[in-house]
Amino acid sequence: MVQPGSELHRIALKRLQDRGVTLDEIAELVYNLQQPYLSEITMELCLENVEAVIRKREVQNAILTGIELDVLTEEGKLSSPLQEIIKEDEGLYGIDEILALSIVNVYGSIGFTNYGYLDKTKPGVIGRLDDHTESNETHTFLDDIVGAIAAAAASRVAHDNPSISDIMQ
Ligand code: MG
Repeated sequence: MVQPGSELHRIALKRLQDRGVTLDEIAELVYNLQQPYLSEITMELCLENVEAVIRKREVQNAILTGIELDVLTEEGKLSSPLQEIIKEDEGLYGIDEILALSIVNVYGSIGFTNYGYLDKTKPGVIGRLDDHTESNETHTFLDDIVGAIAAAAASRVAHDNPSISDIMQ
């Protein structure tokens, strides 16, 4: 059965929470991206924008799909060779980034720069998710999803403050 919008939203939030990601951590990424361009930015504004991004249906779909694949991989339930490819987070796989781009796309081209930057530097929660050495957890999709939500939220902030979008394009 297709879930009504608000139910999908609730489940997407719950899935993020179950995988150890808080909206505050994502808001922190947004803050650090935008603070150089918008000195009066607050964590509250960043959190509001993260919440707005997660209210989008496309974003909820990407969250559910990516986390599902991470969890099935953790449980060893995929077929070979996909099981090993996702488990090892193979660099040439790339579908995790493609799925994340469906989130970045929602707020236009500024998001791509921010997403690329986060993917390369892996600050905060993204670095934590990307570090597989200490545990059996798989976050091949989730690290990109979190980066994409932050990038989209940062773009949303920029769109609301046109003077900084000029700088960022
Ligand atoms: Mg990844």
